[in-house]
Amino acid sequence: MSGPRNARGPSKLGRASSLRERRGDHDRLAELIRSAGSVVALTGAGVSVPSGIPDFRSPGTGLWENVDPMEVAHISVWRRDPERFWGFYGHRFATLEGKEPNGAHRALAALGIPVITQNIDGLHGKAGSRDVIEIHGSIATASCLVDGRRYPLAEVRSRLAGADDGVPRCDCGEPLKPDVTLFGELLDEAAMTRASALASGADLMLCVGSSLEVYPAAGLPELTLQSGGRIAVITMSSTPFDRHAVVRLDGDVEEELSALLAAL
Ligand SMILES: [Zn+2]
Repeated sequence: MSGPRNARGPSKLGRASSLRERRGDHDRLAELIRSAGSVVALTGAGVSVPSGIPDFRSPGTGLWENVDPMEVAHISVWRRDPERFWGFYGHRFATLEGKEPNGAHRALAALGIPVITQNIDGLHGKAGSRDVIEIHGSIATASCLVDGRRYPLAEVRSRLAGADDGVPRCDCGEPLKPDVTLFGELLDEAAMTRASALASGADLMLCVGSSLEVYPAAGLPELTLQSGGRIAVITMSSTPFDRHAVVRLDGDVEEELSALLAAL
């Protein structure tokens, strides 16, 4: 595994001076990490953007022109019109194909802390993080809701490609559902229970690449704060938690985390 600092390309050198000016913030956060008994990360779509994965909740990312993903990637569409659902989701699978972890994923893996993620792309695990809590599920498998049979991604892709109607099906004939939390579905209860416990017990939560606007994920930093822990917010966009953050880093997530690692 190459180190996060190796991931810095020449195109990013232009930001080096501003990073130097903010060195104090990275040193402060590094000190907080060293002195904390427990540190946990909460990550969102912004962590995977440098890997070439668009934030599909953002308008204008062009994933599927003229279609609102929140309308199509909905459990009711999967139930009512699996062809339409898989027409969209098959495309989404394609956008995730062959994507690799970036320096932000690798930096979090190097920290060796549990990672609670809203992402379904599996890149934290691929980067080497051993404890990843995927609160929105993962595209790694798809399941039959009738008999519970579960199929790995490669098999789902193959059934998707081979289906006349574009709907991958279980051996029993029922349409498969990706094991991700669709709009209109509740989050995985076991994952949320674990995430909540980690958030409550954390001395420090690093919130990375998330707008912290989508509940219930946004409730996790609240839990940390309520339990007397601190939060650091590392993302370009503003968040409702900025004023509660002990450190606020608003540069490129790869650069910010690389600088943080360098300060440790
Ligand atoms: Zn089945």
